[in-house]
Amino acid sequence: MADTEKGMVHIYTGCGKGKSTAAFGLAMRCAGNGGRVFVIQFRKARPCGEHKSAAKLGIEVIRCEAGRGSAPCAHPCPLLSAVTGVFEKNDPDLVILDEVMAALKHGCVDISEVRELLAARPEETELVMTGRDAPDELIGRADLVTEMKKIKHYYDKGRAAKQGIEF
Ligand SMILES: [Zn+2]
Repeated sequence: MADTEKGMVHIYTGCGKGKSTAAFGLAMRCAGNGGRVFVIQFRKARPCGEHKSAAKLGIEVIRCEAGRGSAPCAHPCPLLSAVTGVFEKNDPDLVILDEVMAALKHGCVDISEVRELLAARPEETELVMTGRDAPDELIGRADLVTEMKKIKHYYDKGRAAKQGIEF
C-alpha cells in the first residue's frame, strides 16, 4: 500500500454500540488493500469471533488478558511495549488500540503512557483508539473523533450479549 501520506489519529467513543465494530471494519478495509494491520486489544479476557476472522484476513490481534472486571492488569501493561514494538519493527499502516479508554479508566495504562505511544507513532501510521469516555486531551490530539450515541439498546431490556453479535 502507498504509505507516503501522513497517518491520522481517530477516536471512536461514546456510549453507543459500534466503536470496536467500526475499528474492525476499518481494519478489514485496510487489510483488503494490502495494508499491514495490528489490533491491540486492552482488557479482552477471551478470544472472540473477530479474532478468527482477523486471522483469516492477515490482521494481527494482540490481547491483554489480565485486565478485566474492575481490576487493572500488571503495570506497566505488556501491551505498551507490544505497541512500540509494532511501531518500530512492523512498519504498520493501521494500528488500533481497542478499548484503550477502558484501560485508562481502570488504571491499566495512564495518560502519560498513551501520550508516549502517540509520540512514538510513525508518521504514516493511521492510529485508531476506541472506548467510551475519551479524555479531553486525547480528543484534542485526534484528527477525527466520532461519538457513537445510544438511541436504544436491547441491553436495557435485559438481553444478554450474544455470540456472533457482541463477541
Ligand atoms: Zn494489560
